[in-house]
Amino acid sequence: MMKTYNYSNLNKQDIQTLVQRNVDPANEIRTLVEDVIAHVKQHGDRALFDYAHQFDKVELSKLYLDKAELQEIASAVTADQKAALKVAYDNIYKFHQSQVKAEDKVETMPGVTCWRELRPIEKVGLYIPGGTAVLPSTFLMLGIPAQIAGCKKIVVCSPPQKNGKVNAFIAEVALMLGVDRVYLAGGAQAVAAMAYGTETISKVDKIFGPGNQFVTKAKTIIQSTTTTAIDMPAGPSEVLVIADGTAKPAFVAADLLAQAEHGIDSQSVLVCTDENIAQQTLIEVEKQLQVLPRAEIAKQALDNSYIVVTDTLAEAMDFSNQYAPEHLILATESWKDITDSIINAGSVFLGNLTPESAGDYASGTNHTLPTSSYARAYSGVSVDSFVKKITFQHLTEEGIKNIGPSVEILADLEGLHAHRNAVSVRVSPPTP
Ligand code: NAD
Repeated sequence: MMKTYNYSNLNKQDIQTLVQRNVDPANEIRTLVEDVIAHVKQHGDRALFDYAHQFDKVELSKLYLDKAELQEIASAVTADQKAALKVAYDNIYKFHQSQVKAEDKVETMPGVTCWRELRPIEKVGLYIPGGTAVLPSTFLMLGIPAQIAGCKKIVVCSPPQKNGKVNAFIAEVALMLGVDRVYLAGGAQAVAAMAYGTETISKVDKIFGPGNQFVTKAKTIIQSTTTTAIDMPAGPSEVLVIADGTAKPAFVAADLLAQAEHGIDSQSVLVCTDENIAQQTLIEVEKQLQVLPRAEIAKQALDNSYIVVTDTLAEAMDFSNQYAPEHLILATESWKDITDSIINAGSVFLGNLTPESAGDYASGTNHTLPTSSYARAYSGVSVDSFVKKITFQHLTEEGIKNIGPSVEILADLEGLHAHRNAVSVRVSPPTP
């Protein structure tokens, strides 16, 4: 169960240790994943069949489901479930559509105009987790921005279930998004297949999606060893809740458990200015845990989770900024007073009535977010992640005259005479 620390007793080193997560000190995961990647690179589809047998415990006869098969699988989805998926789809679409904005052209000096235009990344690969829990919500979170961006080819991989298929909700979301094929590959092998290509799966330009430590490690390796990019390292999920005396222990406990049930490597952290609320939250966690179907997973995740008691909300925020959580919940009525001091976080949930689950599924924001303190430098997935922003410029006769002398001097001082000449021939062309 969660340990409790007093912030005033923690030195710099203690805090460093507490905020560290998902380290792989013996490089065990790296070694395993490098091996998987090398096999997929060498043996293509054959390796995918073998890994489905080894890791997913299923014998596959083919590596994908086509539209007709997806339609048949999706027929199990009820009208209520379809309606809920549609609410999520519409809100996520609305929020992400608002991210598409043409930028202004800027005349930096008379006759010199610069601007940026968006172009979709042509071939993208979406990884939809499906190990301990199947996540159709992740499919919406990745598929909708890809659709809005206008990506031409969308390759989707998800681990096969024991029956050699995907579950009905993944199939339904595929149909909602107009995706006609879902590849039955999970883990590091799916990432390798999308990075190198196999007989069946096309190589893509960028791979998106969260996953467990094997998936995340594979993404970080292929990012530095192939020409395929990744969205971000989005590994085992985590939440940090900042709470004060105005927080509701039952709500905070539910949020901590919602995170813990993701996987045994998930982490839930409570940073609380009120010891009594912290204690009541722990009691609530025990109570709510009793009725959770995934209690065993949540318990193990909570063993790896903790509470920090601080004197002030400012101290709590200081700890949170050092932790750089994927999800940050401000369980306080004073959330408006502290939002400006957030420096590092993937996605933020404000006040006692805003559960992370709203954003996980349906409010509109994206749930594919940087974990393991990568929120210091990365943003979550958005339409931006699926486009390139290409810069353009145009110089008129007046423009080249205005900018020419400066460029000639700068080229000279770098000793790049061909650069200088590319301007000189235009400003004072040699007489024929
Ligand atoms: P997953 O799809 O990520 O992984 C399942 C695959 O892992 C299997 O198909 C298998 O190939 C591989 N695997 C399992 N055990 C292995 C082993 N011992 N060696 C090698 N490969 C192995 O599904 P999951 O495991 O349920 O994990 C989903 C993860 O996604 C969770 O950790 C969750 O916290 C995380 N998540 C993160 C975000 C985010 O935005 N950061 C969002 C949603 C989910």
